[in-house]
Amino acid sequence: SLPPLKNSELIKTGVYIAGQWKSLPEQYAVTNPANGELLAHVAQAGATATQGAIDAAEKAFPIWRAKTAKQRAAVLRKWSDLMLDNQEDLAQLMSAEQGKPIAEARGEVVYAASFLEWFAEEAKRAYGDVIPSHKAGAKILVLKEPVGVVAAITPWNFPLAMVTRKVGPALAAGCTVVLKPSEETPLSAHALAVLGEQAGVPAGVFNIVSGDAPSIGNTLMASSVVRKLSFTGSTRVGKLLMRQASDTLKKVSLELGGNAPFIVFDDADIDAAVAGAMASKFRNTGQTCVCVNRFYVQDAVFDTFTQKLTAAVKALKVGSALEDGVTQGPLINQAALAKVERHVADARAKGAQILIGGKPDVKGGTFYEPTVIAGATPEMEMSQEETFGPVAACYRFSTEDEVIALANSTPFGLSAYFYSRDLARVFYVADQIESGMIGINEGVISTEVAPFGGVKESGIGREGSKYGIEDYMHTKYLLLGGL
Ligand code: ADP
Repeated sequence: SLPPLKNSELIKTGVYIAGQWKSLPEQYAVTNPANGELLAHVAQAGATATQGAIDAAEKAFPIWRAKTAKQRAAVLRKWSDLMLDNQEDLAQLMSAEQGKPIAEARGEVVYAASFLEWFAEEAKRAYGDVIPSHKAGAKILVLKEPVGVVAAITPWNFPLAMVTRKVGPALAAGCTVVLKPSEETPLSAHALAVLGEQAGVPAGVFNIVSGDAPSIGNTLMASSVVRKLSFTGSTRVGKLLMRQASDTLKKVSLELGGNAPFIVFDDADIDAAVAGAMASKFRNTGQTCVCVNRFYVQDAVFDTFTQKLTAAVKALKVGSALEDGVTQGPLINQAALAKVERHVADARAKGAQILIGGKPDVKGGTFYEPTVIAGATPEMEMSQEETFGPVAACYRFSTEDEVIALANSTPFGLSAYFYSRDLARVFYVADQIESGMIGINEGVISTEVAPFGGVKESGIGREGSKYGIEDYMHTKYLLLGGL
């Protein structure tokens, strides 16, 4: 059942279109991944509801766009404050539908609110340019304009932050939005919309539908009214949506899968590397797109690093979100558990050593023991594909150039990490690694002030920072002659 919230108004189960919550004839179940219990039945949207949401966003666009940047900023700022005022309720709801430990959920509320705050500030700084003219008697002006209606499609692993990271810059720029949150975690997005309305987001500026993902996706992508797609999720679905978006040539931002390397050089501060490894690998039970997937450890420090990592992993506590001291929640669903089991079985069969963990947790359900593996090799499935679970696979390497080649040997390039105290090496390796983001002697890189995004098949575009608003604007050039 749902957690008891201080503000029960935050719980909504309909679709949100033109400022109205509407129920639909069909519904789908949202459950708690820690125990499989039913949380709520949510309206199952398809093409019709999605078209209604697009129409509402289209109608609201000229009104929202016409507001001054300062007016839009005030709404976003208030929305951010309301999120913080309701931090505990939002965290409880998020933990219930997503499974993350409550302390992490509280942290995500603050992180999610930071995107609304940040883009409230950036709204006022969407500057254009005045360019020295190429001819006499003329001026060249460059203006930034909102692209129009935005389709935002978000995953379950950060039920609030992935939404505000898109809706914040979209609304700041003057766009309106149709959001399709993950069917695993729609309730957090709904609660966010309730607070948005209280903050003064006008009807139709932010709309939400979820349910039949392919038909919602098809409708959004086929619409010529929708001018932009912003997607966070799997590479497979990202590519599908980009193909669909090409028919109407939408602007696209994609945050897709990663396969993050984490390199420990022999000159590294090993204790700091272990602390960074724990933070990066085991956050959200290994279910973030910037979680480490491959630990490369240089010969001389391999044993020390893996021993210390194993000791740190031993101290983790598996359980449901509200249990005292729990640091590792359940995996999101059975399919996620099956993937982790398949990767570990494959590694074991190919000769890896399990230093700790390596099996489902005694708690049952989708709980899996935090695991450290030594002797991983590039032939193992977990090296090619993101495990998205609490498994730290460690590979041994000898030289800098060998590890750079290994790190770059995937189609992905979202985040990478390395530990070294040699300045020349730091810049050489940072230059060579193909990745949108690199943590150097740091295991946690996400912040609203810096650009988040990938290269290669990890995506297109950047979220957060001053760059994040660009994805929601286009550039208009005016040649003003006859002067
Ligand atoms: P994950 O493996 O993280 O669940 P997905 O790419 O499957 O990644 O999911 C990310 C988001 O994409 C979710 O909101 C999901 O419902 C949505 N999605 C999945 N398939 C489609 C589709 N065919 N069209 C539009 N959205 C989709």
